[in-house]
Amino acid sequence: MAKVIPLADVRASNGTVRVDPLVFAREAGSGPLADTRGRPLHDLRISVTDRCNFRCVYCMPKDVFGRDYPFLPHADLLSFEEIARLASLFVGLGVNKIRLTGGEPLLRRRLERLIEKLAAIGGDVDLTLTTNGALLAQKARDLHAAGLKRVTVSLDSLDDATFRAMNDVDFPVARVLEGIDAAAAAGLAPLKINMVVKRGVNEDSIVPMARRFRGSGHIVRFIEYMDVGATNGWRMDDVVPAAEIVASIDREFPLVAADANYTGEVAERWRYRDGAGEIGVIASVTQAFCRECTRARLSTDGKLYTCLFATRGYDLRDLIRKGGGDEQLRDAIAGIWRLRADRYSELRTAATAAAAKVEMSYIGG
Ligand code: SAM
Repeated sequence: MAKVIPLADVRASNGTVRVDPLVFAREAGSGPLADTRGRPLHDLRISVTDRCNFRCVYCMPKDVFGRDYPFLPHADLLSFEEIARLASLFVGLGVNKIRLTGGEPLLRRRLERLIEKLAAIGGDVDLTLTTNGALLAQKARDLHAAGLKRVTVSLDSLDDATFRAMNDVDFPVARVLEGIDAAAAAGLAPLKINMVVKRGVNEDSIVPMARRFRGSGHIVRFIEYMDVGATNGWRMDDVVPAAEIVASIDREFPLVAADANYTGEVAERWRYRDGAGEIGVIASVTQAFCRECTRARLSTDGKLYTCLFATRGYDLRDLIRKGGGDEQLRDAIAGIWRLRADRYSELRTAATAAAAKVEMSYIGG
């Protein structure tokens, strides 16, 4: 394998690593692509906007993401052509799943055009999107027609007052449920529904959520509240451990553990014993899954991050806009991946939780 060079040689001071093509070409190597811990690159999450129409208290709290917040200007965003070009190179390097996210991806104008471009890459890529569902009822058919295969909808409670308080823009549950129905009717199935569980805020909603979607064909995934970014004031006491979530559902609706669909699947799967479908739990805090993490993230402005909890990203947009060719870009991505050593969740402490990590809305949830 190629010699590992100290990243300090190419790192700028503001959390961005300048990608010197010559340096990374040396790292690109040949043969199957794997990082320093032997993990392949299979998933790419692309943040298409850093803006959102919700202000979820645990993700984009209003006091930080207020009227004066400096969201990225349009010229800084990767264009659809730039995104599709990079995505195609990622697929060439082994990516078989692409998820569009944000911010709220449905806020990016003419997103269907990007989906068409991504669907045209071929290679049997699983093309999906994560949304808060607010605009889904009006967009589901067009998204499916453009080539989107599935969606994941975030929904933290079925209790209207709790949900309005959590999204902090007074958005009603009923409209997200309409979005879910529209997505299912448009063929964006199987649908996944993500619920972030925060102690003392929405843990009462766990069992009602399971009850509502049992037998629907939709898969609810209960997510441990994480210390992403640096603005949500995370404390370990706020986390409801996955084991507790599973136990509370199991008391009402008996569950049995199911095998993962594939290596590196984030959610631990559980089936209802009575055959009414399955749920997932994402235990990134209490049962770190870094060892099997195969995900890369492309930020809204084209920086490549190799961990959700990263403090720096590699500037691929700079390389593109300076006229970098496909080979240079491919080598850069491969070199960055080969150097990857991230395992944040295995090392998490109260001190790391306070580190200056990038925000999830920017890096892509
Ligand atoms: N706006 C879209 C949405 O709401 O799904 C996509 C972006 S959002 C950042 C993606 C996912 O990250 C959502 O399911 C959200 O609940 C989850 N998320 C955000 N902050 C989180 C945190 N601190 N811990 C766990 N999940 C979080």
